[in-house]
Amino acid sequence: MPIASVNPATGETVQTFEPLDAAGIERRLARAEAAFHSYRGTPFAARAELMRRAADLLDRELEAVARTMTEEMGKPLAASRAEVAKCGKAMRWYADHAEELLADEHPAPADVADSGASRAFVRYRPLGPVLAVMPWNFPLWQVLRFAAPALMAGNVGLLKHASNVPRTALAIEELFQRAGFPEGCFQTLLIGSGAVEGVIRDRRVVAVTLTGSEPAGRAVAATAADEVKKAVLELGGSDPFVVLPSADLDAAVRTAVRARVQNNGQSCIAAKRFIVHTDVYDRFTAAFTAAMGALKVGDPMDESTDVGPLASRQGRDDLEELVEDARVHGARVECGGGRPEGWDTGWFYEPTVLTGITPAMRIHLEETFGPVATVYRVADLDEAVAVANDTPFGLSANVWTTDEAERERFVRDIQAGGVFFNGMTASHPALPFGGVKRSGFGRELSGHGIREFCNITTVWIG
Ligand code: NDP
Repeated sequence: MPIASVNPATGETVQTFEPLDAAGIERRLARAEAAFHSYRGTPFAARAELMRRAADLLDRELEAVARTMTEEMGKPLAASRAEVAKCGKAMRWYADHAEELLADEHPAPADVADSGASRAFVRYRPLGPVLAVMPWNFPLWQVLRFAAPALMAGNVGLLKHASNVPRTALAIEELFQRAGFPEGCFQTLLIGSGAVEGVIRDRRVVAVTLTGSEPAGRAVAATAADEVKKAVLELGGSDPFVVLPSADLDAAVRTAVRARVQNNGQSCIAAKRFIVHTDVYDRFTAAFTAAMGALKVGDPMDESTDVGPLASRQGRDDLEELVEDARVHGARVECGGGRPEGWDTGWFYEPTVLTGITPAMRIHLEETFGPVATVYRVADLDEAVAVANDTPFGLSANVWTTDEAERERFVRDIQAGGVFFNGMTASHPALPFGGVKRSGFGRELSGHGIREFCNITTVWIG
C-alpha cells in the first residue's frame, strides 16, 4: 500500500509520501537508542512536565488535528474532536499517576526474611525502544494510549502507523518534539508493512505492540517470538450486546445504535452482534431498526452527519461482500444493505440491520468493520451466554440487565477481556483494555498497560 493521505469521502489523494529507505530507518533507530540511554534516567517529574506540555499543545490545536484525522479516515468531525480531547486526558492521567503505578513494591517482611534477604523489593525499570504498529481507525488515540505510558515509564517510542494516516502520524512525532521531549524519544517511521519485520529484528528494538487485524498481529507476533521479544496484541473484536428482559429498552436501543455506528462502525470494541431475549426481541429489533435506518449518512465534515464513509475502498468492499454472503444464505435485511444514494464518490455504506443469521454465513464468525449489525433471538440466559461466546474473538461485551444474578453469570462466563453492564464499552485511562482468544493478549491502559513494557526487576539484598 503506498503511503498516502486519501480523503475517503471523495476518493481524492491529498498527499503522498516516500517511504523511508534503509539509511533513513537506520538513522532513526540509532537516534532511538541514543535517546533511551539518557531519557531512561530522567525523573518522573521531568517526564510528567513534558507530557503535560504535549497535552496542552494538543488541546490548543484540537481543531486542526481533528480536521486532519477526518480528512484522512472519514470519521465525523465531532468524533475526531472527542478523540483529541480524550488523548489529552490520558496523557495527563499518566503524567499524574505513572510514578505511583511504577513505585517499588515491597513484599511482606516475613516473606523477605524467609527468602534470606535483609531487604528485597521489586523495581519497574524501562525496557528500551518499543515499536508500535498502529491502525487508522483511532489514528490519534491508539498511538497516544501507547505513547503516554511508554514515555512516562522511561521507554522511547517508534511508530509505524497505518499507511493511510501519514499526516496524523507526522503530527504526533512533531507534537512530542515541540513539547520538548529529547530528540529520538518518539519518532514516526514512514514505512510500509513489509519493512516491519526488519525493524522488529533490529537488536535496538526491545518489544512491539500492535493494534490491527489478526493477520497483521500474527505476522508481528511471529517475528517477535522468533527474536524472543515481548509483544502486546490488540486485534479485532465481535463484541456481543446482550439485551435481557429487565433492560431499560429505550436506553438499550439508544446505546445499541451508538455502540454499533461509532467511528462509522470501524471500532474493535463496537457492539457488532445483538443478542436479544425472545421476550423483548420484537420490540428491541423494531426500535433498533428504525433508529439505524434514520441515521444521517454523509460528509464527515458536516456537523449534522451521523455516519461518514468507511476509511478505504477495500474496507467498504469487504463489508459489502459479508452482507451479500449473508443475504445469499438467507439473512433478512431489515434496513440498509447497500451504498446510499447520492454518495457515488467516496466509500459510503448504509447503516444496516440483519436478522435470521445462521452459522452458514461468514458474518456469523467474521468481524464487521462498518455500520452493519446482526441481531440474534435467544430463548434464555444460557443461550445468550452461548451465542455471546460463539465467536473467535474475545475483546469486550455489553449486557443489559438489572438482575444481579444474571450479571454475575456474565462476569463468570463471558469469554472477553471486559464486560460492560447497562452501558457501552469504552476505554478509559484507569481501566485495563485488551482481549482474550483471537482478540489478542496483553493489556493497554491503567497500571497493567504501563507495566507491559517494564523490566520487573527483583532486588535482593543479603
Ligand atoms: P491492518 O491490520 O492491515 O493494519 C494495521 C497496522 O498493521 C497498519 O499499520 C498496517 O500497516 C500494519 N500491518 C499490516 N500487515 C502487516 C504485516 N504483515 N506486518 C506488519 N505490519 C502489518 O488493518 P487494515 O487496515 O487492513 O484493516 C483490516 C481489518 O483489520 C479491518 O477490517 C478490521 O477487521 C481489522 N482492524 C482492527 C482494528 C482494531 O482496532 N482492532 C484496527 C484496524 C483494523 P499498513 O497500513 O502499511 O498496511
